[in-house]
Amino acid sequence: MLSLGRCVAIQTATVKRAARILTVACTSSMATDPAKKRVLIVGGVAGGASCAARLRRLDEQAEITIFERGPYVSFANCGLPYFVGDVIKEQSSLLVANAAKFNKWFDVAVKESTEVVSVDRLAKTMKARNLNSGEEVVYSYDYLVLSPGGNAIRPPIPGAELPGIFTMKTIPDANAIKSWINEKDAKTAVVVGGGFIGLEMVENLVHRGLKCSLVEMLPQVMPPYDPEVVEPVHERLRSVGVDLHLGDGVAGFEATPGGGLLVKTQSGKAHGADLIVLAIGVRPETILARQSGLELGSRGGIRVDEHMRTSDPAIFAVGDAVEVKDFVTGEHTLIPLAGPANRQGRIVADVITGNEPSRFRGSQGTSVVGLFGLTLAATGASEKTLKRLGRDFRKVYLHINNHAGYYPGAKQIDIKLLFDPQDGRVLGMQAVGEEGVEKRVDVVAMAIQKGGTVFDLEEAELCYAPQYGSAKDPVNMVGMVAANVMRGQHPLTSWDELNLQELVSDPGTVLVDVREPSELEKVGKVEGAINMPLSTLRSQLAKLQDKDKKYYVYCQVGLRGYVATRQFLQRGFDAVNVSGGFKSFLQQMPERPAKL
Ligand code: FAD
Repeated sequence: MLSLGRCVAIQTATVKRAARILTVACTSSMATDPAKKRVLIVGGVAGGASCAARLRRLDEQAEITIFERGPYVSFANCGLPYFVGDVIKEQSSLLVANAAKFNKWFDVAVKESTEVVSVDRLAKTMKARNLNSGEEVVYSYDYLVLSPGGNAIRPPIPGAELPGIFTMKTIPDANAIKSWINEKDAKTAVVVGGGFIGLEMVENLVHRGLKCSLVEMLPQVMPPYDPEVVEPVHERLRSVGVDLHLGDGVAGFEATPGGGLLVKTQSGKAHGADLIVLAIGVRPETILARQSGLELGSRGGIRVDEHMRTSDPAIFAVGDAVEVKDFVTGEHTLIPLAGPANRQGRIVADVITGNEPSRFRGSQGTSVVGLFGLTLAATGASEKTLKRLGRDFRKVYLHINNHAGYYPGAKQIDIKLLFDPQDGRVLGMQAVGEEGVEKRVDVVAMAIQKGGTVFDLEEAELCYAPQYGSAKDPVNMVGMVAANVMRGQHPLTSWDELNLQELVSDPGTVLVDVREPSELEKVGKVEGAINMPLSTLRSQLAKLQDKDKKYYVYCQVGLRGYVATRQFLQRGFDAVNVSGGFKSFLQQMPERPAKL
């Protein structure tokens, strides 16, 4: 029988007159069996639940108690937007496990609606308050695991507390949004914040039939991604009728006389709505850590070592509340994702049960978001991070079918790969498209974790049948392009590295479009480029005299540009291919100069 962190034997109970709180004291001296490890876990969702379950699988004797402030443990917060959108119909589907299951399967005590309010590190005790009864109980521990997650940010701006303005973190939050939509017969919504929760909320509100606006302070959605990679996401949002307002922060909120709400932006605009969702990020929940003097990091999260141990060896911390080491850059950072939280919870269980070698390798920020049929995914560092750190890198763009083009239904994936020019080590990849995106990013995520290079991607042996991929999978292809760059066989540049105006007016440089004339007529070309179609390039090069010029070559997506560049080079011309061709030009040049 479980002993609830050794506190079932209640010694004293005093009702505090002022706070009307019942205090129950117990001490570690009341231990039922000192040989058993007493593990208390604060937070019973991703990291906490994962830690408890593994702990039990590794140690049948340990006394394990989970404390969860909310009314549910182990719920699927990642499913919440889809519950609001009625894609997930039943609330019960979100409950991965419940207190009874934890008790029966794992002999873990679960205290729901119970908030841990203080920790006494010297006494190795913590106090928990039952939020329904007000009862406070002191529990002793051998090990304390903090997995309190993060708090959805509600900015301190005028009107942010008005009814009808919601954040999205818990099942009660989702229920509140659903009730508001139903009761007010809401027809319009503004989502503030274009990160993954904001985008998922937009998709689900549209799915429920609401007309949606998205307001984002930065000039792009999904801020950790590079701007050109998310350009197709902007297009998709607009194409389904979402009013996208980028580069405009929120200044305040107002209630209108008719019962609606207004979002006022810093540029002076006002967007009306029946409902507002704030999705501007999460802040690590560190109250207990701060109160008890645990070390925090520069980003505001709890500082832990590679075994997830805090500055107190008896206290571990995991999940959204901790700072992790970025696997690629080595920086301390905050990466609030479910995968790392779950893995970290398991690692803590390993370490507590004596498997010290178990360690967290760091986080790569591998992430995926789906919206309106589009998938956006990334792993590792972005170009903007590498630039901020002054780190040397090279990049290639690839626009390639997800599977063999001859098999019906092939969809193009836009890929950006970043790698180290010294040794070819893969630093990051971002991709967007309709099919097969996350599968490619997952492969590269594993390559990064194993210190893989572009040569490894080139050689990777991956599944192939025409409906799934190509004999040279997009992962192989992007590796091949980058490996050719590394070997000096493929001089490559990108649009953002060129000054187009100078390039086309400089008599020493030539911009060459190697697509067929019919394509140029259909989709346009870069102003100032001359057309030398690949189909006739050999004969044209045979007549071309200007070997002292430099030729910048591009096609539609980069492949023919590469083939053409090889012809130029092998005939003694100085040539370089522009990565990603005209498709990348359109994604990278927001101003999009005149097309023919
Ligand atoms: P949580 O899972 O948030 O659990 C922390 C728990 O601790 C909370 O339930 C809280 O009530 C409790 N708590 C806090 N303080 C106390 C206290 N003092 N006493 C008792 N209990 C306390 N990640 C992905 O990788 N993919 C996704 O698709 C994805 N979608 C998401 C969608 C939404 C709407 C949200 C909100 C998050 C999503 N995430 C997603 C992020 C992911 O859910 C989190 O990274 C993950 O849950 C973090 O785990 P955690 O254990 O650190 O915190």
